[in-house]
Amino acid sequence: MTVLFAESALLPQGWARDVRLTIDDATGDFAAVEVDADPAGATRLDGPVLPGMPNLHSHAFQRAMAGLAEAAELDPGSFWSWRQIMYRFAEALTPDDLSTIATQLQIEMLKAGYTAVAEFHYLHNAPDGRPYADPAELSRALLAAAGRSGIGMTLLPVLYQTSGFGGQPPSEGQRRFILSTDRFLSLVAELTQATAGDGQFRVGVAPHSLRAVTPDALAAVLAGIEPTAPVHIHIAEQVREVDECVAWSGARPVEWLLRHQPVDRRWCLVHATHLTPVERDGLARSGAVAGLCPTTEANLGDGLFPLEAFQAAGGRWGIGSDSHVSVSPIEELRWLEYGRRLSTLRRNVAALPGQSTGAALWSRALDGGTIACGRRIGALEPGHRADLLVLDGDHPVTYGRGGDRLVDALVFAGNANLVRHVLVGGRWRVRDGRHEAETETAVAYRRVLDRLL
Ligand SMILES: [Zn+2]
Repeated sequence: MTVLFAESALLPQGWARDVRLTIDDATGDFAAVEVDADPAGATRLDGPVLPGMPNLHSHAFQRAMAGLAEAAELDPGSFWSWRQIMYRFAEALTPDDLSTIATQLQIEMLKAGYTAVAEFHYLHNAPDGRPYADPAELSRALLAAAGRSGIGMTLLPVLYQTSGFGGQPPSEGQRRFILSTDRFLSLVAELTQATAGDGQFRVGVAPHSLRAVTPDALAAVLAGIEPTAPVHIHIAEQVREVDECVAWSGARPVEWLLRHQPVDRRWCLVHATHLTPVERDGLARSGAVAGLCPTTEANLGDGLFPLEAFQAAGGRWGIGSDSHVSVSPIEELRWLEYGRRLSTLRRNVAALPGQSTGAALWSRALDGGTIACGRRIGALEPGHRADLLVLDGDHPVTYGRGGDRLVDALVFAGNANLVRHVLVGGRWRVRDGRHEAETETAVAYRRVLDRLL
């Protein structure tokens, strides 16, 4: 057992003093969490403690192209022209490249306060579109990266079969993504088996979008996986996508999904950006998590999610860094709130009765992200993964602030990274702002970029 002691820590019931955290070294889970406890025999933590944040949406390889699609001559400067650049980039990657990029990204995530990631993984085939000798080659590259960085991972192999609504054949740029439904299900089964019994991993599925998967394939996937596995899907990100869905089916994407699929809390609807009030309330009632990626949605010009009305309807949400144009839970939460302030002309949009805005944002994102990852994370509680952040409580931004005020300062006033140490699955992965593998990983990452760029 490892025993830690925090003068203040955020527990599910709120902030607590003198918290003794006992970790089972064999499992990496919390065995006991006591408040108003004695520090005797425990290692004292040198700052306030928060549960680590789950990142519910990631395409790891896109980190390497962050900042490469910001020139105005990319006419028409739309999501769809960005996607063309992304496809060209995806065509060049080897399994080793992917593993190196993912390791580098995950180290950045850990240092920023993400302790788990849901990886929405759609590169399956070799550059020429043929399967690798081991069809799980690229998936294993991601699992290996998580093993090196230490981040917890929900791996979501993506089913991608069509280039548009109604079963349009895939394009040349999509050939690395394509799997038959049978091959996809055997990949999922293989990865589930490969990670079974390891508390750091979970395997779910990601039918890419209603653009990329037909209703028949979607039904076959849901029938072929274990009934509690997380199901993530891109939905209603772009207005053009909504219009094309209406032209195909007579219904909008979220409307179609709620009507035709058993959407419940195992589902995560990523970029549920464009919602009518009926869709918004239906999504909230379903128990599914809205997967919000505010910096990517801003970068790609997607639109703003109707946060306050969705929350009022009881909706659950979490955050993801998606394209990784930014890798910071702070920036996701700040953008989410500020976007709504700017469009509604009011303040403290996400605040809850008895909970200030920053604290409400953090706790909501923990809750939704945990459900979307389908793992026992997101809480300093016995039986949950021992994932936590120790913050710098002496920084000018945080000093003298306790409880919810501290989280408000973290979310709204911090520009320097205020995460001091990061524990994942009971192991220190970041100490004093440094990850043990960051130097060698940065060297390998630069070599990959030298070739790709
Ligand atoms: Zn995405």
